[in-house]
Parts: sequence; C-alpha cells; structure tokens
Amino acid sequence: MLSLQKYRARPGLAAVLALVLAAAAAVLLVLLPERWERILVAALTFLAGAAFAVVLARRARSREQARIEELETAEARHSALLDGLPLVTWLTAPGDRSETLYVSPSIAEVTGYSPSEWVEQPELHVNLLHPDDRERVVSEFERTSTGAPVHSLEYRLLARDGRAVWVREDTATVRDSKGEPLYVQTFLRDVGELKRGDDRRELLQSAEREAASESAERRSRLDLLRHVGNEISAGIDLDPALAEVAELIVVDFADWCLIDVADDANDLRRVAVARGATTSPSGGRVPADDPEPEVKAVLEQGRTSVLPAIDERSKAERVSLGDLEARSVVSVPLLARKQQLGVLTVARTERGPAYSSEDVALAEDLAARLALALDRGRLYHEVEERSDAAWVLEHVADGILLLDRLGVVRLWNPAAEAITFISTADVVGHAAAEAIPGWKTAVERVPVSASPDPGHDEVLIPIETSRGERWIAISGVRFFGGTVYAFRDLTDTRRLEEIKADFIATASHELRTPLAAVYGAAQTLLRHDFALDETGRERFVSLIADESERLGRIVNEILLANQLDAGRLDLDSEPFDAGDLVERVVEATRTHAPPSVTLEVEAPENVPQVAADADKVRQVLVNLVENAIKYSPDGGRVEVGVEERDGFLRFHVRDEGLGIAPEDQEQIFEKFYRADPQMTRGVGGTGLGLYICRELIDRMGGRIWAEPNGSKGSMFVFELPTAEVMAHGQRGGPRLQLG
Ligand code: ADP
Repeated sequence: MLSLQKYRARPGLAAVLALVLAAAAAVLLVLLPERWERILVAALTFLAGAAFAVVLARRARSREQARIEELETAEARHSALLDGLPLVTWLTAPGDRSETLYVSPSIAEVTGYSPSEWVEQPELHVNLLHPDDRERVVSEFERTSTGAPVHSLEYRLLARDGRAVWVREDTATVRDSKGEPLYVQTFLRDVGELKRGDDRRELLQSAEREAASESAERRSRLDLLRHVGNEISAGIDLDPALAEVAELIVVDFADWCLIDVADDANDLRRVAVARGATTSPSGGRVPADDPEPEVKAVLEQGRTSVLPAIDERSKAERVSLGDLEARSVVSVPLLARKQQLGVLTVARTERGPAYSSEDVALAEDLAARLALALDRGRLYHEVEERSDAAWVLEHVADGILLLDRLGVVRLWNPAAEAITFISTADVVGHAAAEAIPGWKTAVERVPVSASPDPGHDEVLIPIETSRGERWIAISGVRFFGGTVYAFRDLTDTRRLEEIKADFIATASHELRTPLAAVYGAAQTLLRHDFALDETGRERFVSLIADESERLGRIVNEILLANQLDAGRLDLDSEPFDAGDLVERVVEATRTHAPPSVTLEVEAPENVPQVAADADKVRQVLVNLVENAIKYSPDGGRVEVGVEERDGFLRFHVRDEGLGIAPEDQEQIFEKFYRADPQMTRGVGGTGLGLYICRELIDRMGGRIWAEPNGSKGSMFVFELPTAEVMAHGQRGGPRLQLG
C-alpha cells in the first residue's frame, strides 16, 4: 500500500498575521484611554482572530480534501498501471514471503488463484511450485531473502487447472530513504510462450545438429559405397580388389572386415581379412584363415545374420565369431542371380555402438555391390572358357549337335551346317525332330553312351538335305544336361565305296571280255590251226594282239591311277608342238575308228609351243578322243583342236554322242566314277580315264573340264600354259583361278 503524506497548513504566514493582529490589539489597549474602547478593541481583536482561525481552518480542510483526491487519483492510476502490466506484481513483507501485501489481479490469469486467495493463504506460492523445481527455488529464496538485492529465477507453478506454467521471477527489496526495507517487490512473468519458443528453438537446433551429423554420416557412407564401387569395377582379378574393399570398410565402419568367396563347389575361401588402424588384435585374437561355421551358415541360408540381434540387446553383451570377441557382428550373404557367391562379415570389437538397422542396410548394400562384381567376374571367366570351347567347335571338322533334355537343339556348329546344309538359325532353339529332316527315325539307331570314352560305336545313317542325301557317321554322349552328338560326313567315302564296288564289277567285266576273246582266239588257233588259212590265222592273231593291248591299257590305267594316288609320278616339262601332237593323235585314231565316226582337226597354223610332258598330254588327248568315239555309239563328228588363249593353249575334243548330264559334269572326273555304271547304254569302262586326265593336267599346271557341245554331245576342254608363260614364271595366272 502506498504511504500518504499528511497535509500541513502554512504556519509561518498564519503566525505572522496573528502576531500583527495581537501587536495591533496590544498597542490599542495601551493607547486607548477609555475602558469601553479597550473592551471594544479586545472584542474586535477576538472576533478578528476567530474569523481568521475559521478562514484558516476552512482553507486547510479544502486543501486537505484536494490532496486526498489527488492521492486517490494517483493511486488509481498506479494500480491501473500495475494491473495493466503484462506481469504479476507481488508485494510481500520484507523477510517474509508468506505475508502478501499486494498482488495484482493478473495472478489469477497466470495461476488460476485470485489475489485474495494469495493474500489469505501464506503458503500458496510454495505449494504451487512444481515438485521438480521446488527444492531449487526454495533454497534460492532462502539465500536471497537475507542479502541479495535482486534476483531472477525461472520455475514452474502448478496452475489450478493442473497446467505447469513457466514463470520468470524478478525480485527486489524496496527500501526507504534510510535504507530500511519497506517491502519486497516481485514481478512474475508467464514465460511459457518464451519457454516453448526456447524449447522449440532448442529442438530445432538439436534436430539441425542431428541432421548435420546424419548428413555427414550419410556422406561418409556414400563415399564408402562409391570407393568400394570404384575398387571392384577396376579390374577382373577380384582378389586384390576385395582386399582393398575390406581395408576401406575398416576405416570407419568396422574394426574387422572379412570377405569369403564361394568356389564352384560352394566351398568358402577367405580372400580378405582387414583390421582397423586403431583396432588392437584383442589379446592376439584374430579371425581364422578359414571361414567360421557361423559364416558358412550365412552362405547356406542366404540370410543376413546380425549378432546380437537388434531387438535383443543388453549393453554388456559380447558375441563371438570363431576366436574373435566382438560387440556386434553382421554377416551378409553375397547373392547375385540367386547364386550364393560368398559372405561379407563386419565386426565391431572396440569402436562405436552395436550395428544399427541402418548399418545393416549399409552392409547389405556393400554386399550387393561385391556380389555383382563377383558375378561379373564369374561370367567373364565362363565366357572366356566358353569362347575357347566355341572356338574349338567353330573350327572342328566334325558336326556337333547338342540337344537338351527336351530334345531342343542348343548347339549346331559350322561343320554341322556345312554337312547338312541346315543353317544354325533354323535349328537352334527348335526341336531336333522338327528341324532336322529324318532325325526322328535316325535317332533311334544312333548309339548314345554315358561317357565320352573313345572306342564307342558310331553308326552310318542317311539324312536328307536340300542338296540330296548325305551319309553321316554319328554317335552320341549323354550328360546331365542332355546329349551331345558328333558326326562326320561320310557321303564321299561311302560313294567311293560304292564306286569301288561298281569298279570291281566293271573292271572284272572289262577284263573278262578281252580275256575271253584272247582265250577263244588262242583255242581256235590251237585246235583248228590246220584248217585255217593264212588270212584266218592272221585274223585270230591280230584279235589276240588287239585284245591283249586293251587288257594292257586297262591294267596300265589301274597302275597309273595307283601311282598318281601314291604321288609316285615324275613328269617332264619340255616344249613341244601342240598342233603336231593333235595331228598325230587324230591320225593314229583314224586307223581303228569306226566308219560311222568322222575325225577332224581344228588347229590354226603356228600354235605356240607348250611346255609339258608330251607323252602325258598325248595320253590325255588319246583318252578324250577314245571316249568321244566310245560315247558316240551312233557315230558322228569328232573334232579335236587346239588354240592359244591368253598365254594358255586350249585343247578341245568335241563329239555328237550321248552327252553328259549337268549334274555329272564334275563327278565324271572322280576316281571310278561312271555316269552309267550299269552300262545300260552298253558302253564299258573303268571310270579311271578322266580321273587320270585331271590328275595329269593338274600336275602340269593346267585345268580340264567338260561342257555340253551345243545341243548334242559333249566337249572336253583342257588348258596348259604356253612354253613362254612357263619360262617367265607366270604359271598359274588369272585364268587358272577360274576353274
Ligand atoms: P570310262 O572308262 O567309264 O570311260 P572315264 O573316266 O573315261 O571312264 O569316263 C568317266 C565317265 O564319264 C564315263 O563312264 C562316261 O559316263 C562319261 N564320259 C566320258 N567321256 C564322255 C563323252 N565323250 N561323252 C559322254 N560321256 C562321257
């Protein structure tokens, strides 16, 4: 409560006026002679004094009244000011906070208790203190009640509705002019809002700190992943890269890092062990060189193992991994394309807390990268191996067919393509029975063994191709993924066999016919010698001579073919006159040619000389001319010629005989090949003549071929280099390569 100043009149002025009045009265009383005059003066003086006193009293009262009003106004203003302040003003008796002198009504807003309750309940303030703050606040009050002039405190008050209200208290002792304490003035401010702001700020700051540290950690994790990625993508030889990766992992993330890799048999091999720079080898305990059973179990189960499990952790627990004692161990399988390729193990023995779920996620991320690299390495090796195998398959002469268990073609090599004329694209991925004509019936006869040991059977089967029937020798080997067949083209060998068989039949016929003639003629001479005249005897003798010559020619052909096969034939290379040779051969043939055949020479003058074995060229020419006559059973014109063409001498023998089917034009030059082995046209032969011709011409640096002679008969042509070309070393010029 405010102290009021008492009103006091101005006593000096009143005293002077009273003195002046008394002095004037005294003077008059002395000076006036008359008694009544003196009585009158005394009465007047009294009246004047009384009137003066009344005036003074009235004035004093009105002044007093005005002052009181002024004071009340001031007090009202003061109260209004205090009450209007956004804080609670609380005045208490000095040294005793329980005696409340005044408390502003706003206390009710802060605490829910009215000012009168505060005045009436001395312990209310202490009772409202939050239990967590009470001790601190009370001891502070005790400390400051005695000496400290000012103090500030923040604490919580429990409001009537149970809220905890944060208040800030500023307390000071108000003293009078002599320094005596008048009262203690306390301002209480509701700082809940501020406090909440502070709390929020604090919260934000800590979130910011957390986010910063989290982002630093995230960055370091990303760095680790990036470095690991770089390391394992650098090369194909992974072992050194994995060792580097383990070293990277122990920089921050682990005290120990172990990387185990599975081999083809799924056995684990420890390829990397790394220890953090600050990690002590824990009393000589280091991880073993071989993967621990726990690690093997992770590979088998294909699941990450976290020890101790995240939801079953007590602070003191230690786990062990083989010899290693650790605070926390995470083992992650390295999985790629559902294959178990190894295990990544990280362990914290000293540094850091047990692995959190984020740590496990990082370990799994690292493991995924390692697995990809391992898988890539494996694929690379596989591809390398396969490319070797593919290279072999590409170049092997045998056809290789790989069927899976369902009979679908998985492999068909170039040799298989070449033998069957079926392209890889048409068979691979298709059922063999559909893609390879005749396979369905043939496959039943193909022997299939369980192992690729040598010496197993193969069978000769025919298959239909776009270019006719081919004979293949084939066998198969079964393996877990299917069957692999290897086959060789024996069409030519088989044809040779057939041709040989035909040859034996033909040759024996060819030999038997002249032999029978010789034998018959000899017998006739022996038995009927006496009955034969000179002419008759000569006829038989010349028949014997002719047939013997024919026999000799056949035998010579066989011997020559044999010599050519064995490479035992020496050829001369002397220049000679080709035109002359043609003339002489035609001349000689005319002597025994049937009358239905006319022989003609077609050779210009001055044909250049040819450098070759003249005997063998003559033999070739004779053979071709004899064939021309032989295969012209109805007779006709046979033309023999020679001309020069671009450094070559071209010989030709043209007839109007049976002609040669286009498909036989090449084959007639093969050994024993006869276009009509059954001699349906009645023309015999060994099938060796043209074979010998081609062999000889080839060896003399020329070429030979057959072509139709217009619309009737055939033409045989052979070329040999001229002597000049041979001398200048241009043998085998561009024309030769046309053949
Ligand atoms: P051969 O002893 O059977 O005559 P060759 O090797 O001389 O043997 O001839 C091979 C085959 O070529 C013969 O069987 C025949 O079918 C065919 N041939 C050869 N020359 C002629 C020709 N001028 N006209 C038709 N066919 C021929």
